[in-house]
Amino acid sequence: MPFEKRSPIPVKEAIQRIVNQNIRSNKITVSLEESIGYVLANDIVATYDIPRFDKSPYDGFAIRSKDTVGARGDHRIKFKVIDHIGAGSVSHKEVGQYEAVRIMTGAQLPKGADAVVMFEQTVEEEDTFSIRKSFEHHENVSLKGEETQTGDIVLTVGQRINPGAIAVLATYGYTEVEVYEKPSIAVIATGSELLDVSDELQPGKIRNSNGPMIKALAEQLGIHVGSYQIQQDDLQSSIEVVKHAMEQHDMVITTGGVSVGDFDYLPEIYRALDANVLFNKVAMRPGSVTTVAVANQKYLFGLSGNPSACFTGFELFVKPAMNHMMNAKAVYPQIVKATLMEDFTKANPFTRFIRATATLTPAGATVVPSGFNKSGAVVAIAHANAMIMLPGGTRGFKQGHTVDVILTESAAYEEELNI
Ligand code: AMP
Ligand code: MG
Repeated sequence: MPFEKRSPIPVKEAIQRIVNQNIRSNKITVSLEESIGYVLANDIVATYDIPRFDKSPYDGFAIRSKDTVGARGDHRIKFKVIDHIGAGSVSHKEVGQYEAVRIMTGAQLPKGADAVVMFEQTVEEEDTFSIRKSFEHHENVSLKGEETQTGDIVLTVGQRINPGAIAVLATYGYTEVEVYEKPSIAVIATGSELLDVSDELQPGKIRNSNGPMIKALAEQLGIHVGSYQIQQDDLQSSIEVVKHAMEQHDMVITTGGVSVGDFDYLPEIYRALDANVLFNKVAMRPGSVTTVAVANQKYLFGLSGNPSACFTGFELFVKPAMNHMMNAKAVYPQIVKATLMEDFTKANPFTRFIRATATLTPAGATVVPSGFNKSGAVVAIAHANAMIMLPGGTRGFKQGHTVDVILTESAAYEEELNI
């Protein structure tokens, strides 16, 4: 096979080619309990007003505001307590002139009352109390429908179900919800040098770290990796293994073997599968050989074997593809500006991604490379919650410069309590 000449495309173009594919998950119905992390397939409407009735947001007394006109420190107005209700109870009494119902947080306002006096605002005496200020109509009242009204769209299609969305679904009595299926994934680490985690090291061999890492990356997104295995650099058996994985799964991720080395068989595997190669070279470091193809309406991700490049490829290309498949509204990596806290003087012929530690400080985000950062590095991945993104054709970034940063994990926790 002659040496294959490849032309690099920009990272943005590569991501766009991926999300331009019309590869979508099916709709399924899941129970509320298992719905976390799925993407909604329908808008969710409010099935009733919230609050459902005018209610008290405090522990206190429900009164008529018009009875409070003129109340002052030197002119206290006295009320008689005619009933007592807790949350979940409804008073059958109607509040009349200078009357009050003792009411707890969450309880429905009794008939006649239009305001609530907090305990702290009263002086109590047996079954009466007095107040020293006037109250307005609806003062201290949570009004029926003030948050949502029947028929309001409260969650929209494409939203990822988070714990807050679970609370909303529970509120409105949705025991089940229609969502897009999460893709099932096969991960195949290719390389005759690879050993399993439990294997003894041997001359020339290394342990497979990409397989477990990708499985974990997917699982962080709530996506189950159906199978992952090590595959020797052997063309025929590799074709069979990838074919089989495609039959069993919605997406196949391989690592290694996408370069132009003598035993890099992925390009030939794509040809054998008659796959449509979306790109096989990206203007980025690390991972310029990252290849993405589509066959039988399935994505095939050929990530580099170098661990840092493999991680970068997952963040840049696999995550958006998963989001796209699940019809999520939010598809792309989150990019923020951060202040670089140490010099980075290397030239960047291509867009460079550096595994990094970002910190959100009260004065804004800061970022530093998270360790030894060659494409084969492993340890820096573990210390990274972000990637610095330096544009191609630049050099000489200095401490204090502002750089673009992709957040790969939610914000780091601080070492000191800083509230
Ligand atoms: P390749 O992409 O196959 O050319 O591999 C690039 C580099 O990554 C080589 O040094 C490989 O030994 C290493 N490598 C390949 N696959 C893995 C893996 N699954 N885990 C850790 N390192 C790997
Ligand atoms: Mg290899």
